[in-house]
Amino acid sequence: MKNNIKPIYLDNNSTTKIDPKVLNEMMPFLIDTFGNPSSMEHLYGLEANEFVEIARERISKFINSSPGEIIFTSGATESNNIAILGYFNSLDCNDFHALTVKTEHKSVIEIFKYLSQRKIKVDYLDVMNDGIININQLKKMITSKTKIISVMMANNEIGVIQPIKEIGEICRKKKIFFHVDAAQAIGKINVDINALNIDAMSISAHKLYGPKGIGCLYINDKNKLLPIYHGGRHEKGLRPGTLAVHNIVGFGHACEIAQNNIKTDKKRINQLTSYMIDKLKTAFPDIIINGNLEKRIPGNINISFPMLEYTPLISNLSKIAISSGASCSSLNPTPSHVLKALGLNKSLIKSTIRMGIGRFNTEKEIKDASNYIISVINKLSKKHLESC
Ligand code: PMP
Repeated sequence: MKNNIKPIYLDNNSTTKIDPKVLNEMMPFLIDTFGNPSSMEHLYGLEANEFVEIARERISKFINSSPGEIIFTSGATESNNIAILGYFNSLDCNDFHALTVKTEHKSVIEIFKYLSQRKIKVDYLDVMNDGIININQLKKMITSKTKIISVMMANNEIGVIQPIKEIGEICRKKKIFFHVDAAQAIGKINVDINALNIDAMSISAHKLYGPKGIGCLYINDKNKLLPIYHGGRHEKGLRPGTLAVHNIVGFGHACEIAQNNIKTDKKRINQLTSYMIDKLKTAFPDIIINGNLEKRIPGNINISFPMLEYTPLISNLSKIAISSGASCSSLNPTPSHVLKALGLNKSLIKSTIRMGIGRFNTEKEIKDASNYIISVINKLSKKHLESC
């Protein structure tokens, strides 16, 4: 990058900056405590293993599970694959039905596509225009052959929180395997796995100020899954491969910090979010905030600017780091499937931006970013009017 002045970082739904306290805790595991936790014959391995297990305990405490229910993975994408495909592998026939939602992360949607190529009957639930599923529609779509339901806890583009507890109750009654992608929810809202009737849940550390390339799968009974990988007995045989001890230690510490700070983080981030929304709404009363405003994770703002239909906004807002939707879909710039599911047309999707305010954003940054957006939108609106 040539320009030294970096844009204000407002893309915390894509990834978060590592907390310096997390990095500090990780460093010794790259230098001195470098043993392989599977090498239990000597001190190096035993020491590394001890810290892996401390991290496992910290993570499980955060979600109120037991440590034995945590399988370390590289992140939510891998956890989603191990859970959904692992469950599919454990069934000895193809004659079943799988259900998910149209607004899921691509890493779930693509697995369901794969299942349908394998002749599994799959269905995608609609969402209402606030992004939340309709429980009655879910009940209607369940058939006697429904074996698995996968619903994300919080959406990565519009931040809305799905009614996981209600879905969990339905699944438990009907003996349906319930998988939840919680990558965007963990660290932002309290998650008590015991209260939710979830069978499997995916987490990524880099969404909660931990390192990238590490996450976990919570699984309440490993016997419900057959491995999708082969080659080792690590992580109960579900995710073979040498454990990334430094990343695991960082993940554990990130969970501990999140657990101690969740209330204050939430309050502060909600205040910054409300400030920005109020400021933008006052300047442009016609803007649309996509997604339910109450049932929402702190920090996510997804806005459409109807007066600027067809205008690609991101390229005009280079002083702030934001995205048009999911970070992974920036590589594949088709209109957001999430916004489409809300009923937005292509032209409005083009003039939509996603911002994610996080722990390390300052009040000044939010004020500066709000003023900057207002000045750019004003300029663009003027141009837009002139060209009409
Ligand atoms: N699910 C959701 C809801 C996400 O937001 C993401 C990250 N964008 C993922 C899964 C994938 O996480 P990772 O890239 O860490 O595997």
